[in-house]
Amino acid sequence: MKFEQEIAAATAEILSDENTYRLLDESPSIGSSSSSSNHIYPTQMTFMIGEKEDKRVVVTELGVNIVTKSDRNKQMKFAQNHWARFLAITSEVDEEAKELNQKTREVCYRRYIGNGFFVSVTEGFSCIGIRKYFMPYWLSTPGLERPTKAGISLNLDEWRNMMLIAIPAIAQIFPALACAQACYEAPSHQTDAGRVACCSCNPFKFVNKWS
Ligand SMILES: [Zn+2]
Repeated sequence: MKFEQEIAAATAEILSDENTYRLLDESPSIGSSSSSSNHIYPTQMTFMIGEKEDKRVVVTELGVNIVTKSDRNKQMKFAQNHWARFLAITSEVDEEAKELNQKTREVCYRRYIGNGFFVSVTEGFSCIGIRKYFMPYWLSTPGLERPTKAGISLNLDEWRNMMLIAIPAIAQIFPALACAQACYEAPSHQTDAGRVACCSCNPFKFVNKWS
């Protein structure tokens, strides 16, 4: 009970508006993420996002998985590196998402988050795409990557829940994710050669500078 009370207190503090979130795990597996810490963190938490309640965000300190209840093929797994890169652009993505409805300018946004995955917001589609891309046969030019089916689309309602609930809660409850570093922050990436050699930054093996 002690653990459960700590979790309840921690989540209540972070997520003060009970109407805007739902924690699904009735009996989350509880464990200490660090033996040197006095804080007890859950080892896994699950959030439901969106009005349709079709998507779940499953979080461990190793990463964040977004899964679709109605279609198991539609999912996105963020390892720590991807999550760090994703967090670095969420406010940009949010601006573009708002612009989809404000319609004061064109929306054509795409940012890379590692290992061939891009986050995109595109006019005419009321969603945020997080999808793996491939380089078409015989092409090797940055910018010509094309999307595959692997990944997930979040509608604007699901995105709002991510921004207002899941992301802030994950930052508070999973320190390993909050502190995760993107590979491009590593000393090995300070040179072009280092970035070219990274299979996360350069999965399509471009030989020239690509960014
Ligand atoms: Zn890298």
